[in-house]
Amino acid sequence: LVARMRPFGTTIFAEMSALAVRTGSINLGQGFPDTDGPREMLDAAARAIHDGRNQYPPGPGVPELRQALSAQQKAYWGLDYDPDGQIVVTAGATEAIAAAILALCEPGDEVVCFEPYYDSYAASIALAGAVRRPVTLRPADGRYAFDPGEFRAAFGPRTRMVLLNSPHNPTGKVFTRSELEIISNACREHDVLAVTDEVYEHQTFDGEHVPLATLPGMWERTLRISSAGKTFSCTGWKIGWASGPAPLVSALMRVKQFLTFVNAGPLQPAVAVALGLGPEYVESARLALQGKRDRLCAGLREAGFEVFTPEGTYFVTVDITPLGGTDGVEFCRSLPERCGVVGVPTQVFYDHADEGRRLVRFAFCKKDEVLDAAVTRLRTLR
Ligand code: PMP
Ligand code: GLN
Repeated sequence: LVARMRPFGTTIFAEMSALAVRTGSINLGQGFPDTDGPREMLDAAARAIHDGRNQYPPGPGVPELRQALSAQQKAYWGLDYDPDGQIVVTAGATEAIAAAILALCEPGDEVVCFEPYYDSYAASIALAGAVRRPVTLRPADGRYAFDPGEFRAAFGPRTRMVLLNSPHNPTGKVFTRSELEIISNACREHDVLAVTDEVYEHQTFDGEHVPLATLPGMWERTLRISSAGKTFSCTGWKIGWASGPAPLVSALMRVKQFLTFVNAGPLQPAVAVALGLGPEYVESARLALQGKRDRLCAGLREAGFEVFTPEGTYFVTVDITPLGGTDGVEFCRSLPERCGVVGVPTQVFYDHADEGRRLVRFAFCKKDEVLDAAVTRLRTLR
C-alpha cells in the first residue's frame, strides 16, 4: 500500500455495520434509511432496465437527469446551471468529492475543511498529495460553531480550496448565512475555490440551508456537490452530481472519466423521475425525518446523554460523559455487548481527536419502532 494511504484503515462505517451484524445489534451507526424512496422512482428504475437502458450512458450523465438537476437547483436555490457543460453525474457524492480534489489540487496545495469531517475527505485529500487544514467545530450553547479567527488563520499562500459540508455530518450543524459570509469573504480575499458537499440539502429542520454558491462572488468559484442517496432514500444507488462553472466541471470530468467513466445507466432516469415529483415528496420526507430527530433526541436525553440537537442531516451527536464514558471509541466498541446498540465515535473524524473524544453519533433515519427499541436498550445503561 502506498505511504499516503497507510494511515487509513477500514472506514468506521464498515467496521460498525459489521459489528452490528455480528452482534445482532440495532444499527444507529452508518447513516442509511430503513425504508425506500418514492414508488415512482423505483418503478422507473425497473422500467429503464426492462426498456434496455443497460449500456454505457453518456459521460456527463443522461440528459433527462441533467435537465432535472438544472430545474431543481433553479427552483430551490435560484441557481442557474446549464445541463450541458455545468452539471455532471457521478458515482455518488463520494466520487464527485474525490474527482474535484484530484482535478483541482496540486501536491502540497492546502484544503481548508471543518473537523469533524466526513471520512472520505481526508483520504481524497491524501490521494491528491494535498494537505488538509482542519478548523474545529465545537459545541457551544447547544450548537456547534467555529472560531472565525481560527478559520481565517487556516488560510495561507498554498490554500487552494475550502471544502464545506452543510448541513454537516456528523454534527448536524446547518451553517448560517453569517457563517457562510465569513467563509465566502475568505474565499474571495484569498482567491480560492470552494467545493460544497450538500448531500443533506433537503434535510434541515431548524434554520435554512443556504448554498454557498448563492453568495456574492461565489457561483464562479464553487463546485456544488449533492446526491440522490439522502433525498430519495437510495444510498445504495450511488447517483451523485456536481454543478458549477464550465471550467471547474470540465476539470472534474477529466478525472472522473478515468475513475468510473460513467455510472448506473438505468438508475439515472429514475432519479430524474424522483426530482420531477416536485417539492411535496421532499417536504413530507423532511417532516417525517424531523419527527424522528425529535423522537431520538428526547429518548437519548432520557437515557442520560448530553444531546446536541442537530439542525439538519440524519444524525445526532451526544456527549457520553454523563453516563461515565470517557472515550467514544471504547464506548462504541462495548455498546453492542452492554445493550445491543451501535453508534459511531465521532473522534475518528477529527485530526485533533481530543476535541471529539467523548462524542458519539447516532443515526435517526430509521423506523420509529427501531428508534424506540434502541432508546429502551440505551436506558439500561444508567
Ligand atoms: N458527504 C457526506 C457528508 C455524507 O454524509 C455522505 C454519506 N454517505 C456522502 C458525502 C456520500 O454520499 P454518496 O453516498 O452519494 O457518495
Ligand atoms: N454517509 C453515511 C454516514 O455518514 C454513510 C457513509 C458510508 O458508509 N461510507 O454514516
